Amino acid sequence: MMNLKIIRLIGVASVLSAIWLAQAAEEASPKTAGKNEPNMYQEKFMKRAIEIPRTALTTPGTEPFGAVIVLNGKIVGEGLSRALATLDVTSHGEIEAIRDANRRLKRLDLSDCEIYTSCEPCPLCVAAIGIARLKKMYYAAARDECSKAFAALPPNGRFETKVDALFAEERAPVDRRKMPAEQKLSTESFEVLKAWALERKAGLSK
Ligand SMILES: [Zn+2]
Repeated sequence: MMNLKIIRLIGVASVLSAIWLAQAAEEASPKTAGKNEPNMYQEKFMKRAIEIPRTALTTPGTEPFGAVIVLNGKIVGEGLSRALATLDVTSHGEIEAIRDANRRLKRLDLSDCEIYTSCEPCPLCVAAIGIARLKKMYYAAARDECSKAFAALPPNGRFETKVDALFAEERAPVDRRKMPAEQKLSTESFEVLKAWALERKAGLSK
């Protein structure tokens, strides 16, 4: 009985969240005007993307990677790599800029925005840029320039992102990756996914 109650509660909660999500998506989808405008590189934004990592020289727990998100000629998101300061391994410049833009614009879809980043992004940030649907990326230092700059560091000088290995892992099917992975309880998990999709569909048709 208890379980049934919990399931019902979860059901109600998911319907409510589906409604909220649907409303949020509707209200906050990017304006289609501007989407097809030609991409215009503006040096001031790249200068800003490089100025942000300069602050890492005097800000403990940060690293010199910065990014800005630009919409219609205005900065709508800024980010600096703060992994150590925030104890968040995903705190990369591009990720922080995307989070900032998502919150400031109150939407997930950034397909009308561009990203300027101080360094060619790592696989995590390539994925985040793709997930956010950013329409264009401008980058300053290339990955090999970054490696060259950090070559002076001792092996334990920073918590390094193994960029090449990660790109290879991402491309490989799950059973051929270096990281061992096993599939368990797929049916149970599938049921949750299906239930959520049905609740969401019901919420959207209201
Ligand atoms: Zn990154």
